Amino acid sequence: MKAIGIDLGGKSIKAGIVEGGKVLEKVSRKTNIEGGYLAILKDIIALCRELLKEAGDAGFVGIGSPGIIANGKVDYSYNICWSGVPLEEDLKNVLSRDVKLANDAVCAALAEFYYGAGKDFTSMAILTLGTGVGGAYVDEEQVKKALSANITYLFGHITVVSGGLPCTCDRHGCLEAYASASAVEKRAAAELGKELSAKEVFELARENDEAALRIVNDFNRILGDGIVSICNVLRPEAVVIGGGLSASGDLILPYINEKLAKEVYGFSLKPVIALPARLGNDAGIIGAANIDKYTGE
Ligand SMILES: [Zn+2]
Repeated sequence: MKAIGIDLGGKSIKAGIVEGGKVLEKVSRKTNIEGGYLAILKDIIALCRELLKEAGDAGFVGIGSPGIIANGKVDYSYNICWSGVPLEEDLKNVLSRDVKLANDAVCAALAEFYYGAGKDFTSMAILTLGTGVGGAYVDEEQVKKALSANITYLFGHITVVSGGLPCTCDRHGCLEAYASASAVEKRAAAELGKELSAKEVFELARENDEAALRIVNDFNRILGDGIVSICNVLRPEAVVIGGGLSASGDLILPYINEKLAKEVYGFSLKPVIALPARLGNDAGIIGAANIDKYTGE
């Protein structure tokens, strides 16, 4: 059965026709944050209508949004500057289909757990390293709970450096202030005096540029500290690294795995492995399109 999945992000709205774990067709638009809620809602509806023309039999539309979700509303999202918007109901009214809204990281986790890198494990944490640091924890039971009770995991806002760099959440020393693409870009601008993308900084490190190596080593060390803490609390079998920075995973994962083996409490009794996300940019779309299958209702 085909369904429509929408992945709403701070930079773009991606939508696709999905069947199981496969995206059959995809469309996207830039997120018009300046336009406010109604402009973004209009764009989401336009993308859905475009896809529904192709897949008229799709009875379900799922949407993943950043931020805190409650009762079909996006209660608060720093990235899209929303609070209390009734996205689920508005889409339901216009599209005349069953619509469900969930947190975007929970959608990505659902997709990787059932269709991607987490398929062979019974529990999994995912960290998405992009503009911010998102994440979620899932196991067979927790997927249902996270979707039906709208659980939002805020892995990006655990403290990794007491009194450290300022974060978007107004605190200091959060994981997101060190292990996101924007954190790498900010530090590169200050220390290399150049506007570089995080990916370019990782490329320079690959070529043994000393300053870039320093940035990447600190990034890995602090990301590793955060992941070890997450593993000590949640005890997942796997940690999946997704988001834009996962493209540089070969410079990140070996280090993280070494650190996990050394530092996770009781690692020999219950090992954990870090691995790259498998569904790439499609995880959010695939997860959203499958929300109804896993809500347990
Ligand atoms: Zn924070």
